[in-house]
Amino acid sequence: MTQYDYDLFVIGAGSGGVRAARMAKRHGAGKVAVAEEYRVGGTCVIRGCVPKKLLVYASEFSKQFKLAESYGWDVGESTFSWEKLIEAKDAEIDRLSGIYWRNLSNSGVEIVEDRAVLDDAHTIRLVNSGKTVTADKILIAVGGAPFVPDIEGAELGITSNEAFHLETLPEHVVIAGGGYIACEFAQIFQGMGSKVCQVYRGDTVLRGFDDDIRSQVHSELVRSGVRVITHTVFEKIEDLGGGKKRVHLKNGNHVDADMVMYAIGRKPYVDGLGLENAGVELTENGAIKVDPYSKTTAENIYAVGDVTDRVNLTPVAIREGAAFAATVFGGKPSAYDHSDIASAVFTQPPVGSVGLSEADARKEFKNIDIYKTSFRPMKLSLTNIESRMMMKLVVDGDTQRVLGVHIVGPDAPEMIQLAGIAVKAGLTKDQYDAACAVHPTSAEELVTMNEKWTPPELKAAE
Ligand SMILES: Cc1cc2nc3c(=O)[nH]c(=O)nc-3n(C[C@H](O)[C@H](O)[C@H](O)COP(=O)(O)OP(=O)(O)OC[C@H]3O[C@@H](n4cnc5c(N)ncnc54)[C@H](O)[C@@H]3O)c2cc1C
Repeated sequence: MTQYDYDLFVIGAGSGGVRAARMAKRHGAGKVAVAEEYRVGGTCVIRGCVPKKLLVYASEFSKQFKLAESYGWDVGESTFSWEKLIEAKDAEIDRLSGIYWRNLSNSGVEIVEDRAVLDDAHTIRLVNSGKTVTADKILIAVGGAPFVPDIEGAELGITSNEAFHLETLPEHVVIAGGGYIACEFAQIFQGMGSKVCQVYRGDTVLRGFDDDIRSQVHSELVRSGVRVITHTVFEKIEDLGGGKKRVHLKNGNHVDADMVMYAIGRKPYVDGLGLENAGVELTENGAIKVDPYSKTTAENIYAVGDVTDRVNLTPVAIREGAAFAATVFGGKPSAYDHSDIASAVFTQPPVGSVGLSEADARKEFKNIDIYKTSFRPMKLSLTNIESRMMMKLVVDGDTQRVLGVHIVGPDAPEMIQLAGIAVKAGLTKDQYDAACAVHPTSAEELVTMNEKWTPPELKAAE
């Protein structure tokens, strides 16, 4: 039998890779290593979910101070230091990366600080050290990378990777994109005091979410002061000198800024990985092709997380990594079920969403019942802030099963985790209604909506 240096070699110490390596050891794998070219923890910990949420917290204070005044507080004059925030954020990210590092090594996983590429299906080349090692099984968990548009002056813009390390808070920001990262950063910078313009090629942000979420978030962006320009994209970026840039738009207009950011999507990070040397094929979209058990087209090579472009979220990468380890080292073939994954968008107010949107449900089911409500959250009742909360249940009219829950408003991400259990469990509207409300909360609306909503065009026909 061939002897390999490792039983498992993982490329990428992010959400999926770290979980897979640790679980493989727990299932009894022999020698396991994980290579990381940047920092242990991956996108989520180093330059994604975690630092982003810290910036969201920081940016929310400007609104909280205003709110406090309506409740009798005199908060005085407030100032904000970007430098202090970034220093504190960096210290926290160092701490978390250290925990990930220790968890790996305490599990008996060897950490290789290097870029790893494939020379063949069992041989990994470590680019900086020049060494090659062999492995029986290989797991590719290299994640994704932000898209940068192919336009004149593209090098004058940054992506979310750099946004976490700006030396100063930019005064004027232009962000390209209408996805969740674009919307979150628009309100992060806006909340901290920058003037923000968001440029989006569609008509309403957050494509892929339920239409009521999209229109609500879009209007909240505008209400909060973000200038949203739709139906156009960047044409080129011009350097005006002194740190100023001019973004020329395809619609003939231009916007000036100190910082230009692209948040127009992410792509699987496969460039130069040597996949062709190992017989690992890609999908049409450039993601690694995998079967339900995360096996690639090479017999001994698996892939999990964003590089497979299934559902690009941290908890999904983690579950796929665990399922891989159970399948290959635990003797228990496990295919992660990607249905009904709850997710959040940390806009202000934030979003929580799980299951089918109304539009998708109408395509799949004959009879759909919609329950929805929109109201002013109680916390705003003493203020003149007009922001509203939206809640919606998408229900199969024949079986009464709740197919989707969609929320925009304070604490929506916390609520949707629990609603996600109910949707995944396939509970019916009657079972929601049987739960007693918790009063006074916003979440109580989820168990008290009892009037079906009729689309205006049907109402007119009634
Ligand atoms: C700004 C931003 C905000 C986000 N917010 C959220 C959120 O709120 N909630 C959520 O669930 N998800 C969020 N995500 C998505 C989430 O970060 C990813 O889905 C998740 O990190 C994917 O995990 P992964 O294991 O596939 O890859 P990653 O976590 O990206 O890890 C891949 C690792 O591989 C390393 N690597 C790459 N190539 C090589 C190589 N050849 N050799 C060695 N190492 C290599 C990389 O340096 C990286 O550390 C966000 C992403 C971004 C960018």
